Amino acid sequence: MTVSNFFNTKIEFLKGVGPMRAELLQKELSIFTYGDLIQHYPFRYLDRTQFYKVSELDESMPYVQVRGRIRGKEVIGEGRKQRLAATLVDENGDQLELVWFKGVKWMEKTLKNHTDYIVFGKPTEFNGRFSMAHPELEELAEEKQTTSFLQPVYNTTEKLKAHRIDSKVLAKMMEHLLKVALPQVQESLSPELIDTYKLMDKRSAYTNIHFPETVEKYNAAKFRLKFEELFYIQLRLFRQKVVRKADLKGQVFNQVPTLNEFYKNHMTFDLTNAQKRVVKEIYADLTAGKQMNRLLQGDVGSGKTIVAFITMLIAADNGAQSVLMAPTEILADQHYVGLKAFADRLGINLGKLTGSTKASERKVLHEQLRSGDMKMIVGTHALLEDVVQFQNLGLCIVDEQHRFGVEQRSKLWRKNPRIIPHVLVMTATPIPRTLAMTLYGDLDVSVIDELPAGRKEIVTVHRFDSHRLRVFQFVRDQIKLGRQVYIVYPLIEESEQMENYKDLMDGYESIKRAFPEYQVSMVHGKLKPQDKDYEMQRFVKNETQIMVATTVIEVGVNVPNASVMIIESAERFGLSQLHQLRGRVGRGAEQSYCILMTGYKLSKDSKTRLETMVRTNNGFEIADIDLKLRGPGDLMGTQQSGVLDLLIADLSKDAPILQEARAAAQRVLHQDPQLEKPENANIRRHIQSLSANTINWSRIS
Ligand code: ADP
Ligand code: MG
Repeated sequence: MTVSNFFNTKIEFLKGVGPMRAELLQKELSIFTYGDLIQHYPFRYLDRTQFYKVSELDESMPYVQVRGRIRGKEVIGEGRKQRLAATLVDENGDQLELVWFKGVKWMEKTLKNHTDYIVFGKPTEFNGRFSMAHPELEELAEEKQTTSFLQPVYNTTEKLKAHRIDSKVLAKMMEHLLKVALPQVQESLSPELIDTYKLMDKRSAYTNIHFPETVEKYNAAKFRLKFEELFYIQLRLFRQKVVRKADLKGQVFNQVPTLNEFYKNHMTFDLTNAQKRVVKEIYADLTAGKQMNRLLQGDVGSGKTIVAFITMLIAADNGAQSVLMAPTEILADQHYVGLKAFADRLGINLGKLTGSTKASERKVLHEQLRSGDMKMIVGTHALLEDVVQFQNLGLCIVDEQHRFGVEQRSKLWRKNPRIIPHVLVMTATPIPRTLAMTLYGDLDVSVIDELPAGRKEIVTVHRFDSHRLRVFQFVRDQIKLGRQVYIVYPLIEESEQMENYKDLMDGYESIKRAFPEYQVSMVHGKLKPQDKDYEMQRFVKNETQIMVATTVIEVGVNVPNASVMIIESAERFGLSQLHQLRGRVGRGAEQSYCILMTGYKLSKDSKTRLETMVRTNNGFEIADIDLKLRGPGDLMGTQQSGVLDLLIADLSKDAPILQEARAAAQRVLHQDPQLEKPENANIRRHIQSLSANTINWSRIS
């Protein structure tokens, strides 16, 4: 067996696995092969030397380990509300309550009374008593001595645990694997890199990441594997960029008569300096003869739409068509209304295509796009359908891009078979530099980092639930002044279950009772698109004064007259989400307000989030803090987390390693663009094995 396909060996052939367990590992953890398992790194380690007494616990502690004996356990409640409560008593006789809300029956059976355990979890305090929800448990067997000073703890799932595949079983599998696999491991970095960055060799790195021999070796292993991971990401991005720059021709758009007319006669405001700079960057791309592939970042309200329109105008001036695609019907409508006003004045034919466009209208649109009569079209993913064809599609603009998958977007690009359209991706989610570098190494980035002049900062305050009456009075005063108000409720989980809408429904009822003199709209994710639209439109037309909603209103909705945003249970929202929600107000001339409502009990992180919101309106600063608080996966939302599925590196902490890995990748490619020099043989071989793996995976799934 050759080395590269050794790591493609199916996991079922590993000692201690077999077909049944292999299937579970595939389904639950996407572990298909030896290679996948060896890269299933521990997410933390048990340090057998560190234990806390219950009397030492403190709510600000993240995760702690406590040793004690189970004294009593009890199932409380019925049906869905059922939970298991157990009492752990430490050697001082202090009590810690352990609680399970899920897997109650199974835990009830497994947890042994009058037995010593090590429990690991986050302590929370209530009425002076500490408890831990869903702690990890380990029975304390005195004779057990581990060879490694840090014991690996692996990610598992409830289902795996129910089939007796817990972290310890995974560790056992890993021992078997390392025994057979280590001799097969080949170095994947060049001797030069290993030397320059003082990296641990790959075999030792695998050994020490799973079963650290010393702290120093563990740190060296971690550094080496993070470096390697980030190095290969950067290398891939640079190579793509080189390929793009070299190969992809673009239409040249160097005529701007209508744009000049627009500037002279129809602009109702001056562009900000940031907008001007971005327009210049875009224009430089459009005249360069290469395909533009640019990301436009700008905080909510920074004025991306006008930049989009100007870009579309340049395309039209050069005989090319453009599309602007938005993630929702509401947003597409708003863009359409905004742009239509400009287009009409300039005599440009601009259309709209969404899921609810009537068949008869569609036919006309399709024809006009094919003949080239229609120069600009705004819409939703309805634009992606195969029947939508163009005479000469020259520009694709995608708004709020993280809602679309890569696959979907590339469907647009392919609508010009002759020459790939220019691409502008717009996002209101400010992305910290380290992330942008990793995610969009293949895109050029423009930033609008300035709000239009005269925009009033949104006044943000934090109020406790007990001040609700005063907050309501404020709402009443604002409505009397003619303004409108959003009230947003969190969902407990992004689940389809109606019971999660309880807070929203209760809120809706109580708002209607509290404000009988006003009309109240409600939108949430369970509504049919038509109903959601209808409710939204009522609010847009000021037929309703209060909009009760979940986060479905988060993205892009523009109701300039709405000047108050109340966020209920604000402690349950992430920082970037709070900022996005706040961005729904402050779009008109009036002073706007954001009121964050919470109870008195707040964790340290929640306090940081609330304080940050009150202190600043700056989206980039907020994004940076958010990244530090929760790590990048969460920040981007689920769609994009795929790109961020890093095995070991952590973008919120590893920016310095990223910088070094990036510089290294750049240098290697600069010296050896085709990676054909003998000293880069390891790198070339590793890339080949990576692409071989990709092919394998797609065949399996
Ligand atoms: P976003 O970047 O969130 O998409 P928009 O493009 O919707 O922001 O712009 C927000 C508002 O600011 C719009 O009403 C727009 O007309 C206005 N606007 C944009 N640029 C300027 C400017 N340079 N001066 C004044 N108002 C502007
Ligand atoms: Mg916008």
